Amino acid sequence: MDTKTCTKCGETKPLEMFSKDPRRADRGGLRPHCKACVAAASAAYRAANRGKVKAYRAARYAANPDKEKACRAARRAANLDKEKACRAARYAANPDKEKARKAAYRAANLDKEKAREAAWRAANPDKVKAKSVRDANEVSRNYAANLLRLPVADLTDELHEAYKEYLLTKRAAKALTQAMKGLNHVD
Ligand SMILES: [Zn+2]
Repeated sequence: MDTKTCTKCGETKPLEMFSKDPRRADRGGLRPHCKACVAAASAAYRAANRGKVKAYRAARYAANPDKEKACRAARRAANLDKEKACRAARYAANPDKEKARKAAYRAANLDKEKAREAAWRAANPDKVKAKSVRDANEVSRNYAANLLRLPVADLTDELHEAYKEYLLTKRAAKALTQAMKGLNHVD
């Protein structure tokens, strides 16, 4: 196996651990630092220059919004699974922070979020229907709050549990009555 020694960390690694660099065609066409060192250096740079990186990205976006949008969409499409995994990991590591972040984003972008949700609902009628059936079956928080005419945020866990028990009991009683009617039915 062909190897090369990284001039940064000094480790000797297989060639595929080094990125190509056409400007160094005379020296093997590879970058002198291994991929791990390059990634570490750019992460460190980003961390040390957060404001600068943000400003640079914003400027790039402002100069060519359509191109940037297309790039972002392509990157997202290419890394859908990775993004999903990242998001799930981020959420698992800090659920309260993520919830707060999402709520803050939602509050700041209410119209946009509402439009996005409406579009999603229009595009996914089956999922919407399945969810509403599930909500009703499980007496979800949203479902209970809606029936109680309360904002979801005002529905305490105690009230939700009590109402859920009440509704499920009522449903069971209704089903029992129906079944008994069937038994007593004489033609
Ligand atoms: Zn290295």
